[in-house]
Amino acid sequence: MVASPAETDPAADEQFRADVRGWLEEHLTGDFAELRGKGGPGREHEAHEARVEWDRHLARHGWTCIGWPEEHGGRGLSLDHQVIFHEEYARANAPARTNHLGEELLGPTLIAFGTPEQQERFLPRIRAVKEFWCQGYSEPGAGSDLANVTTRARPEADEWVIDGQKVWTSFAHQADWCFVLARTEPGSERHRGLSYLLVRMDQPGVEVRPIVQLTGTSEFNEVFFSGALTTVDMVVGGEGNGWKVAMATLGFERGVSTLGQQVGFQRELDALLEVARANGTYDDPVLRDRLARAQVELEVIRLNALRTLAEEQGPQQASISKLLWARWHRTLGELAMQVRGPDSLTTGPGYDLDEWQRLFLFTRADTIYGGSDEIQRNVLAERVLGLPKEPR
Ligand SMILES: Cc1cc2nc3c(=O)[nH]c(=O)nc-3n(C[C@H](O)[C@H](O)[C@H](O)COP(=O)(O)OP(=O)(O)OC[C@H]3O[C@@H](n4cnc5c(N)ncnc54)[C@H](O)[C@@H]3O)c2cc1C
Repeated sequence: MVASPAETDPAADEQFRADVRGWLEEHLTGDFAELRGKGGPGREHEAHEARVEWDRHLARHGWTCIGWPEEHGGRGLSLDHQVIFHEEYARANAPARTNHLGEELLGPTLIAFGTPEQQERFLPRIRAVKEFWCQGYSEPGAGSDLANVTTRARPEADEWVIDGQKVWTSFAHQADWCFVLARTEPGSERHRGLSYLLVRMDQPGVEVRPIVQLTGTSEFNEVFFSGALTTVDMVVGGEGNGWKVAMATLGFERGVSTLGQQVGFQRELDALLEVARANGTYDDPVLRDRLARAQVELEVIRLNALRTLAEEQGPQQASISKLLWARWHRTLGELAMQVRGPDSLTTGPGYDLDEWQRLFLFTRADTIYGGSDEIQRNVLAERVLGLPKEPR
């Protein structure tokens, strides 16, 4: 969630940066020290329970939901300070957060569209990292073309009865609740007649089947709804307004936390440079050229992010930023394989991948999720450059 940018005050920014850095140094100690660098894409299985504890520790000290308005329990921090927090968090190599979907996607959506009862019921438990969420949008026939959603919900007494299938549902196996895009108006088409429902996962009508990924881990799932129930008051933004609410959630998805990610990218590149120096590939002029290019491109991503901060958000910033970082990160995974040479082709016993192999395999997904590269280019072509729409 992005609070409105405050007047810039470099001294206050530096003080805030020092506070965050100091707090992390003081608290990422003891048992928590072992969590440094744990978790993240392709490695979500690492120390999950301990990372939840760390997140709850952050919550107790007011470091979750820092951009939410104060009346909803957040800190109402300015955009600048949120970015500083995420930069320092990445710099400290603090563990990957476990409640991203609740904090960054559903929470801001409920703040914008939820009823006071929904806000009161759900926001405190997201902030305290007590309830986990998953995002039930994609279906076998509705990914890039999300308006094709066929999961349906019909009213019965004071409940909605939900039938259908979702797919690629990240963290569904750990989630308590799912925000589900479902067709509530029979016979409706495309973006009309959809509603945004909040559905409890732990019930007989919901079945979660993990999907094993190239990394050997299962971070996403198929989710089957067969007569799943939720009460009538669990519609966000009103019946039939699901498309508008779902799009707003997508807007929050590439929120400010992703602006801190380039610090994490720099750490990965630095570590790869170490590998290259150690195994001699740094002296190969072709590979050295590619490593230098990666550094230059990362600087471009950083400058683009700063420009994004300075401008009003529009579709172009989100799409350009996604295109830049997704391709950069996927290329880094490929570069890591080249730097490591034949070592990258073998695994430990039982498909025991190392961090570079995981990076290579998981970054294949970067150009797909959150809107594929092709879809970002369509957005730029049609909505920003005004080129003719592609035939449907
Ligand atoms: C790691 C990961 C996590 C995910 N987590 C979630 C989640 O938690 N919840 C959720 O709901 N979804 C999730 N997704 C799903 C994700 O949103 C979809 O994979 C994505 O929207 C693409 O949809 P699709 O897989 O159905 O591919 P398709 O839409 O079938 O696309 C297949 C290919 O065709 C291209 N294509 C499609 N349409 C066009 C077009 N009009 N013009 C040009 N090219 C086109 C695409 O770019 C892609 O290359 C996740 C995906 C991944 C990889």
